Amino acid sequence: KRRTVNQARYEQLQDGQRNPLNGGQFSPEYSSIRSGFRGLPASQHYCDSSKDVVIVQGATGSGKTTQLPKAALFNELDHPRMVVVTQPRKLPTRELAQRLAVELDVNVGEEVGYSCKDERQLTIGRTKLLFVSDGTLLKKMVTDRTLRDVACVIVDECHERSVDSDIVLALLQKLRKESTRADLKIVCMSATGDMHKLKSHFEVDDRSVVSLPGHTFPVQIYHSNGPVSDYIAAARDRVANHVLHGSGDVLVFLPGQDDCIDLLSHLRGHLAPHLVQVSLLLLYRDLPVAEQSMVFEPTPNLRKIVLATNIAETSLTLADLKLVIDTGLAKVAQYDAANGMDRLLLSPISKASATQRAGRVGRTSPGTVMRLYTAAQYAQFETHTRPAILRSPFTETLLKLTVHGVRSMAEVSLPDNPTGPQLANASEELRALCLRDGQGSLTALGRQVRGMPVDPKPQIRLLEPDPVPGCGAGISGWSDHVTALSAFEAWRQNAHFLSVEACKEAERLRSRLENEMQSVQIPLIRADFDDPLYNERLGRAIVAGLFWNIAVKADAYSWQVKRSPGQVCTLDRNSLVSGDTGMVVFSENDPRAVLRMVTDIHPDW
Ligand code: ADP
Ligand code: MG
Repeated sequence: KRRTVNQARYEQLQDGQRNPLNGGQFSPEYSSIRSGFRGLPASQHYCDSSKDVVIVQGATGSGKTTQLPKAALFNELDHPRMVVVTQPRKLPTRELAQRLAVELDVNVGEEVGYSCKDERQLTIGRTKLLFVSDGTLLKKMVTDRTLRDVACVIVDECHERSVDSDIVLALLQKLRKESTRADLKIVCMSATGDMHKLKSHFEVDDRSVVSLPGHTFPVQIYHSNGPVSDYIAAARDRVANHVLHGSGDVLVFLPGQDDCIDLLSHLRGHLAPHLVQVSLLLLYRDLPVAEQSMVFEPTPNLRKIVLATNIAETSLTLADLKLVIDTGLAKVAQYDAANGMDRLLLSPISKASATQRAGRVGRTSPGTVMRLYTAAQYAQFETHTRPAILRSPFTETLLKLTVHGVRSMAEVSLPDNPTGPQLANASEELRALCLRDGQGSLTALGRQVRGMPVDPKPQIRLLEPDPVPGCGAGISGWSDHVTALSAFEAWRQNAHFLSVEACKEAERLRSRLENEMQSVQIPLIRADFDDPLYNERLGRAIVAGLFWNIAVKADAYSWQVKRSPGQVCTLDRNSLVSGDTGMVVFSENDPRAVLRMVTDIHPDW
C-alpha cells in the first residue's frame, strides 16, 4: 500500500519547531516565508492520492511546481529515496531548486539539489528533492534504467512535449508495464496540457486526474485593436508608457535573442532620461548564468524591464512583476530536409503558450497582460504546441530509444506514435548508418555518436547556399556542399553577403560538434585547401554521410534515385554541379522530384 501524508500532516510538518528534513531548528526568517505559500491551492487541496499515476491540472500560480514536490518528499521522509522533478529547460531547474531550498529552509545542494547539462549541485545520499532537465533524467536512465534510488518522478510542464520529455513519459510507462518498479510514483503536471492524451498514455481513468482550483490574483488581458506589424516598436512604446505611468516590473516575450538585444538598444535611447530608475535585463538561453540570475535578484530602488525569449515562459516567478507584454511569436525548431538539421522559424505561438506567458503575472499581486496581437489572431492560434516528435523525422527519437535499450516499438508507447512508414524509414536509416543493428540494438558506432547535437548521420553538415552569384567562382562546380563550405569559410573571413544568422548558427554547430567529437575521442581531421586530395577527401566524407541518397544519370535531363527506382528526378536549377560523372549524392529530394544540394561523386568513393 502506498504511503501518503494527509493534508493535516503536510501542514504540521511545515509548522513544527524543527525542520522535518534534517531535524534542525527552523531559521528566524522561515515563518514569514512560510506564510507566503501557506494558502496556495496545491497545498490546500493536496491530493493524498494513493494512485501510482497522478495527472495534475491547475492554473498557473496554483502551486503545482513548488508545493506538490514537497508533498511527495514528505511521503518519503523515513526512506532514503529521492523525489525527482523534471523541467523542460535549464533556467527553471536551477531557479526552482533555489526557491524550494528557501521554502524548505535548507541550502541548495544539500536536501534540495539540481542537475542539468553542465551544472549540478547535489549531495549523493543527502539530496532528497532533485530538480533535473528532461535530458538529464534520460541520461541517468541509460545507466540506471529502473531509477533504483527514486521514489517518485514528477514530470512538470508536461504540455511542452519536447522529444526528451515524451521519451521520459514513454520509459516511465514501460517501467510500469514491466512491473519492475510497481512502487514508482509518477506525477504529471501542467496548466495547459492535453490531459486526455496523458490519461490514455498511462492507461488511467479520471480518478487519477486532480484538478486544482485557480489561485492567481486578478489579471487583465488586453489584445491589440489591429494587427501589429513592427513588434519591436510596439513593445518599445508599451514599455515606455508603463515606465512613465505604471508601477512594478515588466516582462516582454520576444521571439529570439536578436530581438531582445534589438529592443534593449531601442529602449536605451527611448528611456534615456529615466534610466536611473530602471534596470534593463536580458533573458535568453545563451546568456551567461550570472546575467540570467540578475533577473531574480531583488532591486529595491530599480524597476526591472526583462526582455526574454520563451525560456521565461514556464515555471518562473518574478516577485514584483506587474506587466507582461507578449509578441505572440516564437522561434520554433523546424526540421529542414535540405541540410538534415533543425532550423529556427519565426512562428505564432499556441494558445497554451499564450496562457503560460500570461501566467507569469498575477502570482504575487494583480497584474496586466498586453498582447501584441488581436483577439481574432489569438483565436487562430493552435490549442497546444505541436509535439516536437511530430515536427521532425523519427530517426532521432528512435536512436534515443535504442540508446535506452528499446529494440522494437512494440516494447514502448509514446504519447504520439510515429506512422508505419516513418518508423520503417527511421529504422532503415539507422541500420544503413550502422548505428542500430538488425536486432534493434545500438552498435559501437551508435554509442559514439549518441551525444551529437545533429540528426544522427555522421555526415558533414553544411549551410544551404542561397544561390549567391560569384561565390562559386574558382570552385570546380562539382559539389554544392563544398561550395557552401567555401562560402561559410569566406564568411568567417569577413564576406558579408551571406545570411549572418545562418552562418552564426553553423559556427555554433561546428564548435559543438568539435567538442562532442573530442569528448568521445573521434579524431578531428582537417582538410587543407592546398591539399591535392582536398576534393576527394571532402567528397568521400560527403558520400559517407549521404550514401543513402545516391542518384544515377538516366539521360541528359533526368536522374534516377537508387532507393526509389521508379521515380524520375531532375537536378535543381540552382545547382552548380555538372553531373558529368553520372552519379551524385543529394541532401533533399523535394516534393517535385527536384534533387537539391548535390555533389558529383566517383563510384569508387
Ligand atoms: P505553478 O507551478 O502552479 O504555476 P508555483 O508552484 O510555481 O505555481 O508557484 C505558486 C506561487 O508561489 C506563485 O504564484 C507565487 O505566489 C509563489 N512563489 C513561487 N515562487 C516564488 C518566488 N520565487 N518568489 C515569490 N513567490 C513565489
Ligand atoms: Mg509550474
